[in-house]
Amino acid sequence: MLKTTRRLKVSIEGIVQGVGFRPFIYRLAKAHSICGWVRNTPAGVLLEAQGEADDVSGFLADIRSKAPPLAVLSAVREEELLPVEEGDGFEILESTGGSSSIQIAPDCDVCPDCLRELFDPGDRRYLYPFINCTNCGPRYTIIEGVPYDRPLTTMAEFPLCPECRAEYEEPANRRFHAQPVACPVCGPRLRLVDGAGREVPGDPLQAAVAMLKQGKILAVKGLGGYHLAVDACSAEAVMELRLRKKRDEKPFALMSPGLEEVDRYAVYDDTEQRLLEGPEHPIVLLRKRAGNPIASMVAPLNGYFGVMLPYTPLHHLLLRGNFLALVMTSGNLSDEPIAYLDEEARERLTGIADFYLLHNRRIHVRTDDSVIRVFRGNPIFLRRSRGYVPRAVVLPAAQRSVLAVGAELKGAVCLTRADRAFMSQHIGDLQNDAVLKSLDETVRHLQRVLQIKPDIVAHDLHPDYLSTVYAREIPDLPRIGVQHHHAHMASCMAENGLEGDVIGVIFDGTGLGPDGTIWGGEFLLGGYASFKRWGHFRQVPLPGGDAAVREPFRMALSYLYSAFGDALFSLDLPFMEEIPAGDRKLFLSMLERRINSPLTSSCGRLFDAVAAIIGLRNRVTYEGQAAIELEALAEQGQARDHYPFTLLEGEGGLLVDFAPMVRALANDVAIGVGGAEMARMFHNTVASAIAEVCGRIRTETGADRVALSGGVFQNRLLSEGVYDLLEASGFRVFVQRLVPPNDGGLALGQAIIAGRRE
Ligand code: ZN
Ligand code: ZN
Ligand code: FE
Repeated sequence: MLKTTRRLKVSIEGIVQGVGFRPFIYRLAKAHSICGWVRNTPAGVLLEAQGEADDVSGFLADIRSKAPPLAVLSAVREEELLPVEEGDGFEILESTGGSSSIQIAPDCDVCPDCLRELFDPGDRRYLYPFINCTNCGPRYTIIEGVPYDRPLTTMAEFPLCPECRAEYEEPANRRFHAQPVACPVCGPRLRLVDGAGREVPGDPLQAAVAMLKQGKILAVKGLGGYHLAVDACSAEAVMELRLRKKRDEKPFALMSPGLEEVDRYAVYDDTEQRLLEGPEHPIVLLRKRAGNPIASMVAPLNGYFGVMLPYTPLHHLLLRGNFLALVMTSGNLSDEPIAYLDEEARERLTGIADFYLLHNRRIHVRTDDSVIRVFRGNPIFLRRSRGYVPRAVVLPAAQRSVLAVGAELKGAVCLTRADRAFMSQHIGDLQNDAVLKSLDETVRHLQRVLQIKPDIVAHDLHPDYLSTVYAREIPDLPRIGVQHHHAHMASCMAENGLEGDVIGVIFDGTGLGPDGTIWGGEFLLGGYASFKRWGHFRQVPLPGGDAAVREPFRMALSYLYSAFGDALFSLDLPFMEEIPAGDRKLFLSMLERRINSPLTSSCGRLFDAVAAIIGLRNRVTYEGQAAIELEALAEQGQARDHYPFTLLEGEGGLLVDFAPMVRALANDVAIGVGGAEMARMFHNTVASAIAEVCGRIRTETGADRVALSGGVFQNRLLSEGVYDLLEASGFRVFVQRLVPPNDGGLALGQAIIAGRRE
């Protein structure tokens, strides 16, 4: 029988560089007796394959079904070529330069093969903290340019030893073309220094473990920055870290050697387990186990621990057999970006860390840990960063290339190319120059490694956000200002691939409305091109502006004023006890005459008000604290009912008036109803209000798809309540699963709105 020979040109796009894709193709070609070549191109990977027709088909099928674990194939295009006479061998060719649709792999944890070698006394990389291969290891944080090859990474300064070189060049080896490959002979090394910069004698790792066991605070250089570590079971060490870091109550993240240890202090379901063990290794919020041995100051007044498993060989070496859990919190002072350069870390962590566990592989890009909680088997990102960046979100359609710069809090930028949106890592709250500088570095780095030159820059409408200021200073690019809550809605629509008009239920703390007031409890109707504000929470004054954000009792007074007028101080509510008579007068006149009291419809501020009224707290030390604690309290409550509220037809649309709820709450506090019951009733009230307003909008417009977004929807209890009510009444409900519902996901919405505008 005559055999037919085929020759194909195949181009593959997606995450195919830095994931062992060319070696994979090489091995596959050998297995199927294919000759030809493969190379990295700016667009991805290009190959030519010639062989017997059956072999070629088998080869093509295997490309799709057996791709390496870190690869993501977004497009595979085949083109028939005329076979060449002399097909001979298969080669990996040099990369070609240029630019168009490159994608870069996120950093990845240690693969099972490397982990086995790490703890195998017979292996030449036994206990070597920088072991990696084509299936695992650092990527995004060490890449300085494209194409992804060793000379353009921070590994360039480590020439390969003969043994590593042999592995790197041997196609059958797991380390064939693994760019960060290294060993104890040729690769990066650890060292341990004290606060004065003096080298600590002995084995750095063993000495570091000993320090931690003595309750010392250790700065650990990791993948995307420095962590501060202490033994999580030592109450004194945890307290000391809190004092030195000036971090009053914000929870610390934990790292444990494995699930067995996590089991002892937290509970998790299947989805949470998959996330914990997945290659991205985010911090997952897990419910605390009662009577757990973790120091209580790790996450005070919080129902959850943020937990992650080791994601670098160094973490495994530090933890395994040594600790139940270590606190691993970002190496920074509160509100500053995570430290990632050695000198910077030494300088900024002076007075916090007792010792520094360092190494000489540079971190090129600062990247914090990602944080996720699970809602109904779906992840809700609280922070999307290491492990996920710069994986693309696929947009519903191709559009102009945009740089979107986000808002102020939880900064993150977005770059788009055709139908791909690349969200940056978490940058931090844009409230000081250090974070602004970090934003600029991130924008430059992403543009370089993704080879994107944006046509437009999109920013928030707020003129004073540092991100807006940054956008204004970019020369020669047209700018588009996008309303904050419109961007939240579009972000949710974009990741769900929605077109047309939807109802957007957008609840958050703060965002500037086109009318100059502060929005945050919004019912929108619209799509990418435009929106209409159908309804919102009835506005109340924000007494003292920003001070009201730090002092929830001010919002309590504001809501009580809206419910009781100037009789509010005749109420006997415990939270008022600390307000002196003189201040009461002042607050009353502030509220009556709206002095320094801008109006807001913010849902976040409603949570603050309720937290204060029921006596949970009058002040917060970090953003969202009152809402987080209110949710934790509500989870212990049983109430199925909700408080009354009214819907009013106002000039600007439907108004949700919570004054009836505030009166009922004040009464409940007076008669001694438990906080958990009241907190639960409050959650039910907000969910009911959402369902009722959406019902009204559907009646008038026929819209039956609801997009939920805004930071308030990080609240699992509320999200579940709303989801149930809306689904039961026939709505299709869309939530955010790929990017955070908080301002960390805002840039995606800005990008799609701006990219589609004419
Ligand atoms: Zn590996
Ligand atoms: Zn070596
Ligand atoms: Fe927001």
